[in-house]
Amino acid sequence: MTTRSPATYRPNTAFDLLRLPVIGRLLRSRWGRLTFQIPLAIIAIAVILDGLTGPPEAARNLATVTPWVQYRGLVVVALLLVGNLFCMGCPFTMPRTLARRLSIRGRRFPLLLRNKWLAIASLFGLFFIYEWLDLWASPVLTAWVAIAYFVASFVLEAVFTESAFCKYVCPLGTFNFVYATLSPTQIGVKNADVCASCGGKECVNGSYAPEPVIRVDTIPIAGTGDTVAKTVTDGPQGTLGCGTLLFAPQISSNLDCTFCLDCVRACPHANIGLMARTPGRELARPGAWPQRWDISLLPVMLTFIGLTNAFAMVPPVYELQRWLVEVAGLRSELLVLLLIFVVGNLLLPALAAGLAAQLSRLLTDTRKKYSLRATVAAFAPTFVPLGFGIWFAHYSFHFLIAPFSVIPIAQEFLGLPGAWEQFSGGLSVEAIGLLQVIVLLGGLAWSAWLTQRAALRLYGRRGFIGQLPWMLLLLILVFIAIQIFAQPMEMRGTEFLFS
Ligand code: SF4
Ligand code: SF4
Repeated sequence: MTTRSPATYRPNTAFDLLRLPVIGRLLRSRWGRLTFQIPLAIIAIAVILDGLTGPPEAARNLATVTPWVQYRGLVVVALLLVGNLFCMGCPFTMPRTLARRLSIRGRRFPLLLRNKWLAIASLFGLFFIYEWLDLWASPVLTAWVAIAYFVASFVLEAVFTESAFCKYVCPLGTFNFVYATLSPTQIGVKNADVCASCGGKECVNGSYAPEPVIRVDTIPIAGTGDTVAKTVTDGPQGTLGCGTLLFAPQISSNLDCTFCLDCVRACPHANIGLMARTPGRELARPGAWPQRWDISLLPVMLTFIGLTNAFAMVPPVYELQRWLVEVAGLRSELLVLLLIFVVGNLLLPALAAGLAAQLSRLLTDTRKKYSLRATVAAFAPTFVPLGFGIWFAHYSFHFLIAPFSVIPIAQEFLGLPGAWEQFSGGLSVEAIGLLQVIVLLGGLAWSAWLTQRAALRLYGRRGFIGQLPWMLLLLILVFIAIQIFAQPMEMRGTEFLFS
């Protein structure tokens, strides 16, 4: 085994966004995250208050419009243009930080649950209860969902040492983790030699200690071969380490990164940055994601959930429900919906990915060389761009149809007259339709390119034939998406503006 001696790495030359004037300094500062969290916490409190005490009409209440229309419309833009900004400003983690200090010597999340199966279940559960309980139409229920979020994140954080809620449970965080893999930024270290000489690994262990702890690190000076002795003090003023247990020098993906920047603040050698990168770079890199069934099925399932979520808002879903009642004999609305969701969100994606992988292995005669799991893992990242395109097409419809309708709702919440006439306009359905086609085809092209690269990497000269099952699956998915978005969609959260 070869060991890497210090000064064998080249410094990272990527542009560090934390070096930007003002904003970079603010983000690096001790209170940087709080600056983003406080406005979002105020919004979350307003959402809960309006939900519990405000008008019952969904389109006039902050509880239904803010999370189900505004948040979802903005989060996809932020993920694409910058990164996981919502997790960075997430108000649910404010009580969590207090809880984490309580649990610093607590126990770890159960080994059996340290994967994405719980997150897949909570994603499934959230979208199911959204549809079953009509959350989009119920300010009161939505307010209780927000309260449940605060409680769950606090309890899990208080009991377990790591940020179990963010890493293993939160459906919103899981969505953001998956689609932040498209983002043009990623946490990275500036000089890996410094990490090799770092005694405390504070980025993951934290610089917090009940009593001051002093040590001296011998840090190499980049490009010179010289070293410098640096005194490091961890203590009560220190920062917690990475809640999701990522080790900065080894980060190869945005999966599990909440963009909290705790690692940046904890690193005693100022060696971590928020680096610019080619958007989606990790999706084309073998080994960037762990080769596990839960991680591999997640982006495939999210793509299918995106389709089911949109399908539940167009007329053919009522035809299907009627058929299931009259022909299949299902009498309960709950059972009908459950069947559609289990088949559409869990069974179909698992079967489709398994079948495509099996066909690829047969066509290229690589059954002995690559296991089913390895094949699915190699092609799973290719679903991210198309899946994102589907979500973007859906969320942008609800958002762009009346992007400023939250302003009169907020005015009414504050006891002022709502300027509805002024703020109820938006893009035309035709313009949004054009945007939907562009993002769907853009997502397809990006996914197809990734598929081709994965197939060439795995199968070499037989790459063309090996990619065919996956290309066919992508084409079927985009065809279904276009069919769904061509239907008249329910104006959830904005309906009374158009009645
Ligand atoms: S990123 Fe900072 S804290 Fe982490 S190992 Fe490197 S130098 Fe140490
Ligand atoms: S501490 Fe962990 S989750 Fe937070 S920004 Fe750093 S790597 Fe990402």
